[in-house]
Amino acid sequence: SIVVTGATGVLGRLVIDELLAVVPAEQVVALVRDRGRASDIADRGVELRLADYSEPESLAGAFRSGDVVLLISGSEVGRRVAQHTAVVRAAKEAGVARIAYTGILGGPAADFALADEHKATEQAILDSGLPYTFLRNGWYTENYTAQIQVQLEHGVVGSAGEGRIGSAARRDFAAAAVAVLTGEGHENRAYELSGDQAWTLAEYAAELSRQSGTAVAHADVPPEALKGILLGAGLPEAFADVLVDVDVAGIRRGLLEGGSGDLSRLIGRPTTPLADTIAAALKV
Ligand code: NDP
Repeated sequence: SIVVTGATGVLGRLVIDELLAVVPAEQVVALVRDRGRASDIADRGVELRLADYSEPESLAGAFRSGDVVLLISGSEVGRRVAQHTAVVRAAKEAGVARIAYTGILGGPAADFALADEHKATEQAILDSGLPYTFLRNGWYTENYTAQIQVQLEHGVVGSAGEGRIGSAARRDFAAAAVAVLTGEGHENRAYELSGDQAWTLAEYAAELSRQSGTAVAHADVPPEALKGILLGAGLPEAFADVLVDVDVAGIRRGLLEGGSGDLSRLIGRPTTPLADTIAAALKV
């Protein structure tokens, strides 16, 4: 079977959706921690298996020999190395055929804080000796368009300077995952996944202004000011620090620009343009 972890998350649901377009539902398994939120997935004929990354006992029954696994990285920043390592261990013990992992653009070369857990996870997978595929995901365009109502009111604020962001839509990353899960020749390979056209926050603000008819300013602020804004919006301090660091140590230095072309090659089409994701967000 093809086992997708994090299947009730936003990316996971898109992966299940794209998978069901190309393989029969009997071949697909969704690993979830809450059956109640997965009933729509079960209704499509997908087997559910229950497991929590934080509970190694629950992971013992999660995989079968020969499964191809997509480990979607967890969302509990700071706890993910132990969690992901437990998933890898369970996959190894079950004798899965291959594990694909959604890491971060740049892999071992990404030297900003958010990358640490992804790098450690890749290393745990390498140490396991399992055949692997690393999906090193760049930024989702939706990280920005999810804030569109705030941006229309207060402008676009960041500390990324003129750094370019090679983002793509979540659905593009989901399609890439499906390509490596269902295709041949992806064993022991790492893909650097980014959008075809990188953009700056100033360009983002200009495109949002054009489409909305509202003048949306871009303010590049010092890191401390950005942290204050994120704390004001209710983010926990540790996460605010990580996000500020992404701007300063990641985007500003070009580490989320990408440009390898791996993503459009894997999905066999251009990545979703920024303008399209903005348009979709403005329609909601
Ligand atoms: P979501 O938060 O929607 O999904 C995270 C998934 O991980 C959920 O299905 C969640 O389960 C699951 N999960 C978290 N903790 C556990 C756990 N302890 N045990 C089992 N499952 C767990 O994020 P997205 O789908 O948008 O993104 C997927 C991942 O990509 C994120 O988790 C994060 O690692 C990373 N990411 C990447 C970004 C990028 O721009 N490239 C931006 C943001 C995140 P449940 O549904 O039960 O909550």
